[in-house]
Amino acid sequence: MVKREIYYLDNINVSEIKGFGEKRIKSLNKNGIKSIIDLIRFYPRKHIDRSSILTIEDVGNLFEIKEITVLVNITKVSVFTTRSRLRIATLSVSDNTGVAKAKWFGPQYIETRFKEGDTVAISGIPEVKKTGSVEFKNATIEKYLDADELNETGALIPIYKKIEGLSSSLIRKGIKHALKRSPEIEDYMNIQQITEYELLDRTTSFNDIHFPESLDEYYRAKKRLAFDEFIYLQTIFKRKKKSNKLIVGSEKIETNNNLVDTFTANLDFELTKAQKRTINEILKDMNKKSAMKRLLQGDVGSGKTIVAACAVFSVINAGFKAALMAPTEVLAEQHYNSLNPILKKYNIKTYLLTSSVKDRSEILKQMSSSDPVFFIGTHALIQENVHFNNLGLAIIDEQQRFGVDQRKKLIESSNIIPHQIVMTATPIPRTTALAVYGDLDISVIDELPPGRKEIENILLSGDESDNDVVIDYCKEHLKNKSQIFIVCPYIDESENKDIKAAENVYKQYLNLFPNNKIKLLHGRMKSEEKELIMSEMNIGQIDILISTVVIEVGIDIPNATLIVIESAERFGLNQLHQLRGRVGRGTINSQCIFHISNKLDLDTVTEVGKQRLKAIISTNDGFKLSELDLQIRGEGKVTGTDQSGLSDLKIADLRYDFDILNLSKRFFKKEITPELEEKIYNEATLLFPNFLKVEDTT
Ligand code: ADP
Ligand code: MG
Repeated sequence: MVKREIYYLDNINVSEIKGFGEKRIKSLNKNGIKSIIDLIRFYPRKHIDRSSILTIEDVGNLFEIKEITVLVNITKVSVFTTRSRLRIATLSVSDNTGVAKAKWFGPQYIETRFKEGDTVAISGIPEVKKTGSVEFKNATIEKYLDADELNETGALIPIYKKIEGLSSSLIRKGIKHALKRSPEIEDYMNIQQITEYELLDRTTSFNDIHFPESLDEYYRAKKRLAFDEFIYLQTIFKRKKKSNKLIVGSEKIETNNNLVDTFTANLDFELTKAQKRTINEILKDMNKKSAMKRLLQGDVGSGKTIVAACAVFSVINAGFKAALMAPTEVLAEQHYNSLNPILKKYNIKTYLLTSSVKDRSEILKQMSSSDPVFFIGTHALIQENVHFNNLGLAIIDEQQRFGVDQRKKLIESSNIIPHQIVMTATPIPRTTALAVYGDLDISVIDELPPGRKEIENILLSGDESDNDVVIDYCKEHLKNKSQIFIVCPYIDESENKDIKAAENVYKQYLNLFPNNKIKLLHGRMKSEEKELIMSEMNIGQIDILISTVVIEVGIDIPNATLIVIESAERFGLNQLHQLRGRVGRGTINSQCIFHISNKLDLDTVTEVGKQRLKAIISTNDGFKLSELDLQIRGEGKVTGTDQSGLSDLKIADLRYDFDILNLSKRFFKKEITPELEEKIYNEATLLFPNFLKVEDTT
């Protein structure tokens, strides 16, 4: 039998498939399906198990709880919005044997997609009420136009994403045809490897992913195809990394180990093992002619700043400049205040550059001088007229707050290519990092400094009585001379009165605690004003600081032991974790109160809000939370900016397929010869053009 290469199939236009007219071809093209291989790789969204299709009457008599499908007619469509603005869409449906209801919670716009009289398939786990009535909640639903669909052969019927002008049945026929055109597809794995790695061959996988005889067959096919995607990813990233190392020449930073040892020995604390390890990784990496690009991950409070400071110390001793860019003035200032005194002891000059620094002439002069000095700043560091002479190291703090362009700008503002460290307290699981930051090396601080007390999490509803509990906690902490953060989502009252606004809360607390020093902090204030307040908080002159999320990142005040997050259901999971990290930085017990908006509780907030709250109180581990966050949001949103790399994965799921990823890594390490790599690379560039565009930080 003739084996067909992937690129051969990529050259056969879908127009060669019977049954696809001009209009349909256009529709297919619009969905990225141009060639036969594209069509084969148009994987089904799911399969319907023919044996799970039941009548409503059968459902009422079901003994076990399992996912089933009913084929029904819609008799009525209705929408209802609750007092807490939750939207509920209800469909009344019927078949020859009975009637049922299906409900969707949240903005899914069921009513615009379906209307009375439509025949639909509803799949989900049904709820059978005591009265015998049948109800579905948030089930999957699709239109069932073709009577054909049920006459297909096979126990499992593949269902595809909707493509305009083509029914699922027509897509199925087209795919069958395409598979016939390619009876055997060239496989980069040989038979021994396929056996050893317990995978299916490719031809079988491409067939079974669409038309499996059993779910087991489907999963085996899926495993092989996901494996391929991971292999493609790794091949592309390996190339990228290699070519970056070739093109990009940075200055080699010779580290003086004795000096660094003295530096670390003279700190106020002993570095953790993880900090020492990451410092070594960084110093070793900078001692090369190629540019270091390193992602430094560490949970909130793990001590990333001092690790960066060691790198700065080393670079400056080697005769180069270093720059650290932070997302807010408050944070830049804090870094300056903590690092300047340490570095000064070694005669290292540190300059602070933010938009509130008026006289910049001295700083700009220093930047263009040949002196090895250190700059800490905000976006002001990447303004038009800023140019560094001999910048050996560029550090970005809280990288998730910056866009790719801003990072690039810092790099490009120097006459030489600096080594780079990007720091994040929003840890990204390694697998996702592989896709998002393919060409970055990763260092992880996976340990907190000793003596940190676990923060206690408290979830309170918006009921009157719970509101009082919040005040009681405040009193308790004030008695112990501790400081308190109260964070609100908005500055002033928004359209919804039940969401706490910082200004109102401020007034309320002024009344409640007339003998304490209370201040308000928000983003609309002038920077000088903000800084003044932050420094007062820092030296313990403020008892309660009411603020918006301006305090979200980085702020470090060990005497603050209580943070109250108002309308907590409104914040993102990483944000909640960051906010919580404002306390628990000293050795005293700290608490974090997640306070739900007025009148609401865990059962009445939105589903996503509920999931986030449950997740945040379930763990203090930022890495675990990132994974939970991915599960709640779907991995596509991790980067916030460029998602091209992720959206290209058709079948591998970075959230769940760790085992397959590891298997593919093993294969990649052990089996890949240069010829094989070349072959896979060529296929990868054909099938995953977007991977080539994944963020590149040079
Ligand atoms: P993050 O990783 O969130 O940026 P920071 O670098 O701000 O954390 O460090 C948090 C606090 O922990 C700072 O006050 C810092 O001085 C302190 N710290 C850092 N490393 C250690 C250590 N090894 N032992 C004790 N305290 C440390
Ligand atoms: Mg930090």
